[in-house]
Amino acid sequence: MSKYDYLIVGAGLFGATFAYEAAKRGKRVKVIEKRDHIAGNIYTKEVDGIQVHQYGAHIFHTSNKEIWNYINQFAEFNRYTNSPVANYKGQMYNLPFNMNTFHEMWGVRTPQEALDKINEQRQEMAGKKPQNLEEQAISLIGRDIYEKLIKGYTEKQWGQKATELPAFIIRRLPVRLTYDNNYFNDSYQGIPIGGYTQIVEKMLDSDLIDVETGVDFFDKKDEYLREYPRIVFTGMIDQFFGYQLGELQYRSLKFETEEKNVGNYQGNAVINYTDAETPFTRIIEHKHFEFGKGDKDKTIITREYPADWHRGDEPYYPVNNQQNNELYKKYAKLANEQTPNVLFGGRLGQYRYYNMDQVLHAALTAVDKEFA
Ligand code: FAD
Ligand code: UDP
Repeated sequence: MSKYDYLIVGAGLFGATFAYEAAKRGKRVKVIEKRDHIAGNIYTKEVDGIQVHQYGAHIFHTSNKEIWNYINQFAEFNRYTNSPVANYKGQMYNLPFNMNTFHEMWGVRTPQEALDKINEQRQEMAGKKPQNLEEQAISLIGRDIYEKLIKGYTEKQWGQKATELPAFIIRRLPVRLTYDNNYFNDSYQGIPIGGYTQIVEKMLDSDLIDVETGVDFFDKKDEYLREYPRIVFTGMIDQFFGYQLGELQYRSLKFETEEKNVGNYQGNAVINYTDAETPFTRIIEHKHFEFGKGDKDKTIITREYPADWHRGDEPYYPVNNQQNNELYKKYAKLANEQTPNVLFGGRLGQYRYYNMDQVLHAALTAVDKEFA
């Protein structure tokens, strides 16, 4: 038997939080991670004095005060407010959909003028129940915004026609009748000064925790299952079970990072390309996440290309439609029946489109249950 109480598979936010809390309770923990670094998808790395978000833009936001206080133990956060801008064929529109967007789209100036315009555009769907994402978007915000800011982006992101995507994806589309470009409605928001990796580093910094990177659980699955009394698994639940009930669907991404010899390339951290022809969905300019940092003559940008997922690719997004959610439930049942000593957690283990605050919440809930 192993000298450890826990094997944690995956050094992402879920695994690291669980490891930290277990060590706090005197448990001995082994963490294995298949990538050559810790921190999972929140990994950031310093280049030219700029914290580069290696796996896409990560903005921490939450309305849960406990979660906000919890994460603030591990880093100080700046006051970054996400306010992405959309580029549609060279025309720039503020996001999320607010008075700035409506002014840019239609020249309206007051909330009443905007509302009149939106209502006029919604008429197209009057009396009809939306059957798909396209109809849902038009009934919420009208065709102009749908065509320019939603259709192309969504079809690229999900690799499917908007008329074939379920309506629920954008049921909560915010429509704001104020001149407010803050993308999130949450009470707390920011970027950790010095990046995200330090958070996971601090979580794993304990004499009771040993971390090994470059180790894939599946290379020695049977041995691990035999030797460790308890395993926390944050990889793909369908892969854990050898895809025996079928594959869950994921979306993958390709990141193209480039150093530019200019101080300020696009004037904003995030610009979305919402037309269908541009193959990427967004460009991130990392230095804008932290004000005034980095070389004044250089900048780092990353283009984000959505991609189909095939075995072996990084599974960045679960596709939480009804069919996949039902299949996930079957895997969760199998887990309960066949592997009671394995706790499945995080975005891939629980097959949920979790944000960071939700991952923390899920990990702390699992910890409470584990050590009750
Ligand atoms: P992960 O970070 O994926 O960690 C799982 C770890 O397990 C990985 O390091 C993986 O390599 C490892 N692993 C998997 N299988 C094995 C194996 N067989 N053996 C060993 N190791 C294994 N959230 C926000 O709150 N705000 C944002 O702005 C935001 N933006 C995002 C943008 C993008 C492009 C993406 C993809 C996600 C974004 N998120 C954002 C979500 C955020 O990344 C997740 O909530 C969080 O990282 C999930 O943590 P996790 O530990 O569950 O998973
Ligand atoms: N979306 C869109 N246009 C945009 C940004 C987002 O239509 O400019 C839609 C799209 O369907 C996307 C969803 O809103 O999948 C959620 O986007 P968000 O950027 O909030 O999520 P993320 O990809 O960062 O998880």
